[in-house]
Amino acid sequence: MKRYSVISEKNKREIVLLRGSGCIYKKCTFCDYYLDMSNDFHENFLLNKSVIDNVTGEYDALEVINSGSVFELDKKTIDLIKSVCNEKGISTIHFESHYIYRKRIPKLKEEFSEFNLKMKLGLETFDYDFRENIFNKGIHDKDPKIISEYFDEANFLFGISGQTINSMMNDIELGLENFERICVNIMCKNSSTITPDKEVIEKFMEKIYPKYKEDYRLDILINNTGFGVGD
Ligand code: SF4
Repeated sequence: MKRYSVISEKNKREIVLLRGSGCIYKKCTFCDYYLDMSNDFHENFLLNKSVIDNVTGEYDALEVINSGSVFELDKKTIDLIKSVCNEKGISTIHFESHYIYRKRIPKLKEEFSEFNLKMKLGLETFDYDFRENIFNKGIHDKDPKIISEYFDEANFLFGISGQTINSMMNDIELGLENFERICVNIMCKNSSTITPDKEVIEKFMEKIYPKYKEDYRLDILINNTGFGVGD
């Protein structure tokens, strides 16, 4: 599995895919990547160190993902991220987290106060019924202002039966209104029960993609390895 890459478009940054103790939630119906985990903290640290060793600081920004939430990374890995970012002159760090951990974010930001910390939420959609009944995301708030309170960025998931041009546009517009940056992921076939809908994806590509593809505040991943990490 590729765990280090450089994103050299729009918001340029290095990205590392680390391994933690595993997603605390594991119930999102579209997800199978939470399988990238281990309860062996030492092994996780050794793997994570070998990935972090690639970081050069060339863009002054690092995104850290770990098939779950930053709070599932071991302490030695967290300390290493901090020291490598200091050493390489990296000022912006992006972490991701499930909504469940939101109340822990202020403390994490305090711990990383020498950096510009950006927290990304896997929101998938603002549509409550779709998000909770189809995706089973576990975010039981509806108000975009409340949902975005602790987060700077969000992921959205498009390309599933039931989504329409209007629903996807609405998510993008609300996303740009409530977060600094958003990332749209197009559903790819995996081992979960949710499958990509070719027609919805075609509609997205025809009517929505051209409108936003150059938007600096929006990343669009047509393929789930679009950032260069994963398999
Ligand atoms: S999408 Fe994220 S929060 Fe949901 S099960 Fe997968 S790893 Fe966990």
